[in-house]
Amino acid sequence: MSAISKLSPQAVWELFDQITRVPRPSKKEGQIIRFLENFATEHHLEHKTDQTGNVVIRRPASPSMQGRPVVVLQSHMDMVCEKNSDVVFDFEKDPIQPQITPDGWVKATGTTLGADDGIGMAAALALLIAQDIELPALEALFTVDEETGLTGAFNLGQGMLTGRYLINLDSEDEGELFIGCAGGIDTVARFPYRTEESAKNLAFFRVDITGLTGGHSGDDIEKGRANSNKLLTRLLWRGAKEVQLRLCKFDGGNLRNAIPREAHAVFGVPVPMVKAFFELYEAFVAEAHEEYRLTEPNLDIAVCEMPYQTETLDAASQRGLLYALQGVPNGVLAMSQAMPGLVETSTNLASVKFKEQGTIEVVSSQRSSLDGARFNAAATVESVFELGGGKVIHSDGYPGWNPNPDSHILEVTRQCYQKLFGQEPRVRAIHAGLECGLFLQKYPDLQMVSFGPTLRGVHSPDERLEIVTVEKFWKLLREVVVNL
Ligand SMILES: [Zn+2]
Repeated sequence: MSAISKLSPQAVWELFDQITRVPRPSKKEGQIIRFLENFATEHHLEHKTDQTGNVVIRRPASPSMQGRPVVVLQSHMDMVCEKNSDVVFDFEKDPIQPQITPDGWVKATGTTLGADDGIGMAAALALLIAQDIELPALEALFTVDEETGLTGAFNLGQGMLTGRYLINLDSEDEGELFIGCAGGIDTVARFPYRTEESAKNLAFFRVDITGLTGGHSGDDIEKGRANSNKLLTRLLWRGAKEVQLRLCKFDGGNLRNAIPREAHAVFGVPVPMVKAFFELYEAFVAEAHEEYRLTEPNLDIAVCEMPYQTETLDAASQRGLLYALQGVPNGVLAMSQAMPGLVETSTNLASVKFKEQGTIEVVSSQRSSLDGARFNAAATVESVFELGGGKVIHSDGYPGWNPNPDSHILEVTRQCYQKLFGQEPRVRAIHAGLECGLFLQKYPDLQMVSFGPTLRGVHSPDERLEIVTVEKFWKLLREVVVNL
């Protein structure tokens, strides 16, 4: 036992302490599945494991609670495995080493802590065996592989859930209740291109856009940050139109779900047009700095001369690509009417890469809390890419959870919070994916809410859990379950 098992509420911390000793990397959940199955057996609770590895453990209703609706407590059993480079640690074998910091947090020693979502699991297990409280029937669902593919939620087995109310225990801000998330879909275009011999009178340059803030393509999409691919396209498109610019290479962005922070292009300009190009370039740089003065203070645009390049894209390939990149929408497409301030639908132009064998791959993704709006955004992007000569494929995508500010579960949770802490909780939805959207696909009548204690630095070795918020989280969970 480590020191954290003495923290309050002890029932939760003891279980969290046990969970941190069980290795549970995403896609390697065998040991934690066995831990959960043994826990159920040991406490004489019915349990079931589906083919994907998701585990449900059931607690029958207390005598005074017969006939109350079944409540689902949901958490995920896998954790992100990140460590500092100077730490020797095997996530498939070694127990996490939790420690209490002087300022009231629990963190691990040079690794992720796995409070995302180990603390949610611990609360669910603690409630399954709580003896000091009369409870309705509970179903504690523990999913696999939330972090790297939502695999468990995607493949939730038949008959795993019977409850109508689901409390997701995977949120990171005490005092906030989450009632919605966005679904997503990727739209990838492959533009075939041909090259031709460069004209003899071309001078070649390279432009680099760097220093952008970037961020998550869902959570940060409304923050007014620049998209490096869009910004660079703007210069190239005008260059093609005004000074006969001829493109050789375009390379921008990287991660599928990130706002791109860098983009680079190599191109030629006819020698007689070089002066005009630089006028255009200077104007572009000034405009960009002016437009992104507040959101991109470190924006850096640089140009340098390049040696003579033997080939450029042919005129038709260049026109198709640049018109598609210029025309494709990017950023916020619609704000939610149900939840003021929430982005409802968005799209992000994630990367542009020249691949082998004459293709340029352009990756984008669309998000929306409304499935119809998500597919429509993907259709819009597809249309523009195909008009430019691209061949489009979409990923399967995953559904959103459209916020319902009038649901019974939210009303109960809000009242319980107010009664316990004398304060209104914040009600929020996020513009990123959660498992909840997928549960709705199989169980369309579920009412859901998500809350948890305060975590910071998740998915990094700085991950930490604020001790005082665990007590509030536990109290709220008990109160909500008995009042639904
Ligand atoms: Zn999580």
